Amino acid sequence: MSNRLPVKVRRGSKGVESELSAGGLASGLSAPHRQSGGLWIGWPGYPSSGDRVDSAVAAALSQMGMVGVPLSRHQIDLFYRGAANACIWPLFHYFTCRAEFNTTHWQAYRDVNHLFADVALAHIQPTDIVFVQDYHLFLVPALLRRALPELRIGFFLHIPFPSSEVFRIFPWRQELLEGMLGADVIGFHTLDYVRHFQTALLAVLGYETRSGAVEVGGREVQLAAMPLGIDAAAFEERAGSPEVERELRKMAEAAAGRKVVLGVDRLDYTKGIPQRLLAIEKFLRQHPESRDRVMFIQVAVPTREEVQTYRELKREVEELVGRINGAYGSVEMVPIHYLCASLPPTRLSALYRLADVALVTPLRDGLNLIAKEYVASRVNDDGVLVLSEFAGAAWELGEALMVNPYDADAVAATLSHALSLAPEEAARRMASLRARVKGVDVHRWVGRWMNTLARPREVRHAVSLRGEERARLVAAWQAARRRLLLLDYDGTLRQFVDVPEEATPTPEILSTLSALCKLPETRVYILSGRSALVLDEWLGATGVGLSAEHGATVRPPGEKSFQEFIRGADQSWRAPIREILTLAVERVPGSRIEEKDYGLAWHYRQAEEQLAARHARQLGNHISEAFSNAPLKVLRGHKVIEVCPVGNDKGTAAAIILKAERGADFLLAAGDDVTDEDMFRRVPPEAFTIRVGAGPTAARYFVPGPEEMLRLLADLAKGSAAEPRKGATRAASALNPSAPS
Ligand code: UDP
Repeated sequence: MSNRLPVKVRRGSKGVESELSAGGLASGLSAPHRQSGGLWIGWPGYPSSGDRVDSAVAAALSQMGMVGVPLSRHQIDLFYRGAANACIWPLFHYFTCRAEFNTTHWQAYRDVNHLFADVALAHIQPTDIVFVQDYHLFLVPALLRRALPELRIGFFLHIPFPSSEVFRIFPWRQELLEGMLGADVIGFHTLDYVRHFQTALLAVLGYETRSGAVEVGGREVQLAAMPLGIDAAAFEERAGSPEVERELRKMAEAAAGRKVVLGVDRLDYTKGIPQRLLAIEKFLRQHPESRDRVMFIQVAVPTREEVQTYRELKREVEELVGRINGAYGSVEMVPIHYLCASLPPTRLSALYRLADVALVTPLRDGLNLIAKEYVASRVNDDGVLVLSEFAGAAWELGEALMVNPYDADAVAATLSHALSLAPEEAARRMASLRARVKGVDVHRWVGRWMNTLARPREVRHAVSLRGEERARLVAAWQAARRRLLLLDYDGTLRQFVDVPEEATPTPEILSTLSALCKLPETRVYILSGRSALVLDEWLGATGVGLSAEHGATVRPPGEKSFQEFIRGADQSWRAPIREILTLAVERVPGSRIEEKDYGLAWHYRQAEEQLAARHARQLGNHISEAFSNAPLKVLRGHKVIEVCPVGNDKGTAAAIILKAERGADFLLAAGDDVTDEDMFRRVPPEAFTIRVGAGPTAARYFVPGPEEMLRLLADLAKGSAAEPRKGATRAASALNPSAPS
């Protein structure tokens, strides 16, 4: 699904007229579209008069495996020109002042996204794969997901995803992000855009990402940097074709021995054409000897001409060209050849072949295909690419000469450097660039996407632990010869209270734990974020083993001392972190700092909820970013942010305990927090993992709250007050195969 179909189709005076659109996406996706027998859903390029696509147009599209979405003139105005091009486009390219935030436009954007989703839903099956393209259709993934929860959906953003500082300007930011998160896989051109998206998720929705994925309502959404490729082989082939050779000869004649510097851009303010012209002017002023030795060609492809700011840009560019040619031209020649036109592919390829230097200097660009097309067309491995560091393509095309397009002096100097670059050096750079552009072409890109989307989703739904499931657990417990329980404390056994120090164990907790510990061949551990001192004081008498401060220390049942795993811990991080947490305490009344042996925690359970939540997000982000080089981790718990040295987590602690408690054939792990997820992931798959409370989890089961958890434990303690059955068959497979039976 894309806003535009790869063809423009309408009913004309002589029947249906159609025109193919070139574009990387169209050429890249057309083969898989044909081969898969799939449908391409999009707007056919002309306004519809009613709420249906003209029947003859629809029939012609159907022949090509396409479905048209009918957009009225009014919708195109509000949704396409308004919301998409006058708001999202400038904002996402960092032109914040140009972004128009208009509620009517946004309403039209919503309506059109609904329309796209409705058209799609009339054609797709729940087992289909849908691949949604670009910023016009941000809301479509969630709309499709709502209707067909099992659908596989990919979303690719072709423009930059801006820094979250810029993104959060967008008034409908939450709706936009939630729309995207309907997809299973969200792709961007660069790692920077992925990072910006992750920060936006945390800042706007409070969602944390974990190794390139985010959990949304029990679903995993993958985030990936997969820059779009071009059809490199087609460009290479065309560049060497006889037609292009012919064009090239004519052009070379016109250049009359001068070196050629080429710029090709849509006439869009993001492309930095005026800034480039000013740099060229500087170059001509500084290098008078070059004036009749270098020829500049600027192709400006008209775009969005109905928009005032685009018309103004055109005038500005034309005035600049006129001024520079007036100042530095002569009767024989002018320095800048300016073409305001869209060129046919052969001419474009001939220009790519002709140019000694390509000047690709957008102020901001999602990727920039021109840079890749120029490289693919340099069949003799010559020519120099000068590339803006603000183009997404800079990430892949590292051998280009990089420039900051806002720095006219640097661009002029780089241009001079490019024109005098030693041929061997130019060839080395170009050969390497060309190999890369060919290696990651659009076919590979499409193949990667289709493979990713064709893979069945890993469904991890925790099931409610009642009825048969609960009975199965109890039976396994009774049949087991050796049992091991790994239990979190706060939120798992004990309800949260406003003051964490007051969450002392209830008599029921104490009696249940004691009863469990008294059972033969039953070992119980409490793994908590609390300090060793508190855990020992509160729970030591029950006979449980303890792991304090999120796995930093462990003490087996019946022993006196804790085993430490973070040795010689460097404490230099404490003062600066304390300082930052103190700032938060000053700003959020009711919040406070807890000093632990291994960590520092900022608690905000007693603070005003919204204010505290906002600070918590900022604080977490700030510490993660500002201390990214320090071996620290930030744990975001229930109304607490904790900072501690990287070392053990509950997962590692669980592994250590498992090793020490070899031979257990019944294992239960229960917790309510993100830190407990480490434990769920670490224990063997046959273990009974229980998430206490709602939320995405890696656990197999869930129970509603601590009350139910405690009841289960009490039932287990009662139900097996007797010796485990002698010679009972092993219900769960051995947790540790190497353990003596
Ligand atoms: N292009 C074209 N005709 C022209 C000049 C350019 O079809 O006269 C194509 C060019 O081949 C490239 C695209 O326009 O594929 C421009 O893509 P790019 O990513 O550089 O910029 P965008 O227009 O997508 O912002």
